Amino acid sequence: MKDKIWLSSPHMGGNEQKYVQEAFESNWVAPMGAQLDTFEKELECYLQTSQKVVALNSGTAAIHLALIQLGVGIGDEVLCQSFTFSATANPITYVGATPVFIDSEADTWNMCPKLLEEAIKSRISNGKKPKAIIAMHAYGMPYKISEIHQIASTYQIPILEDAASALGSTYKNKACGSYGTYGVWSFNGNKIITTSGGGALLCNSATEKEHAIFLATQARDTAPHYQHTHVGYNYRMSNIVAGIGRGQLEVLDQRVAQRRANFEFYKTALAGYAQLQFLEESSGSFSNRWLSCVLTPSFKIREQLRLALAEEQIESRPLWKPMHLQPVFATCRSFANGVSEDLFNRGLCLPSGSNLTLDNLQKVVEVIKQRLD
Ligand SMILES: *Cc1c(COP(=O)(O)O)cnc(C)c1O
Repeated sequence: MKDKIWLSSPHMGGNEQKYVQEAFESNWVAPMGAQLDTFEKELECYLQTSQKVVALNSGTAAIHLALIQLGVGIGDEVLCQSFTFSATANPITYVGATPVFIDSEADTWNMCPKLLEEAIKSRISNGKKPKAIIAMHAYGMPYKISEIHQIASTYQIPILEDAASALGSTYKNKACGSYGTYGVWSFNGNKIITTSGGGALLCNSATEKEHAIFLATQARDTAPHYQHTHVGYNYRMSNIVAGIGRGQLEVLDQRVAQRRANFEFYKTALAGYAQLQFLEESSGSFSNRWLSCVLTPSFKIREQLRLALAEEQIESRPLWKPMHLQPVFATCRSFANGVSEDLFNRGLCLPSGSNLTLDNLQKVVEVIKQRLD
């Protein structure tokens, strides 16, 4: 029985169980405790920021809370990158707002600055000034932060930075996720580090952090009994899971190095195949290369490669189907240019885990070469 080669599987560092053990010994088997507090501090330290981290039970929850704290509500519009995972956009609907999708540009595969400005102008002229912008870093590649944030600031629209897949990525030597009014990361099982499931929200002040924790822990007012003046959520990270996160943070830089090495391996090994394209970093950008992606010449060849890999028990996946083409968002407005649709049609995510062996990587390349030769 051949071992399956996964797209992106968990990769423990070694100390995770030690911290989980500490949590058990202290009996803080709860969504509070020393592991949780320490994990937040260690993450702030890793990000080299004075902003405040709130650890939550998912990245999706972090996006939801950020939208609430930005005051996004019923009837509002939020400009959202179309080329992304659905969890970027879903929380917009949780607060009763409507997503307006913005297509990508070819340089980074992320939000196109030109289309963003066009969309803002168009919505404003229709009497609908967007309440927020959600920009994200696709597969760890930073979006054009300078351009996008310049436009947002011109029109005074806050940015929620979905850095769910970009922990370890930087732009001009500053962490992706730390540029926006709020930033979000995910520690889901397939991300560059995992807590088995979890997320984080980056807030600009201790007051905002306090309010996020208040909302994430059922919005209890100060009183001896249960007293509520706000609708609350159960979104806090567990102290147990935070222990896993601490162990994972210790090896994050190694994970980034390994994922970047995977990308370089594919790029070098397939350099003779001019029909295959890899996305380069633009100046100032440092990608964690969460997933190594390749652009093929056509949908047909993309599918041939995907199926050939699957036959060898190798998991690969088409690039995201853009949100403006998803049935669930069919009635939403979009500003499209065809870029993300083309990426979806021709692009493939290759096995990218930091725990892949050289044998694994060579096997992937061999199957691809065989199919193209
Ligand atoms: C994984 C992911 C999310 C969702 O995070 P969860 O922790 O799984 O809820 C959101 N946005 C992007 C871009 C992601 O990759």
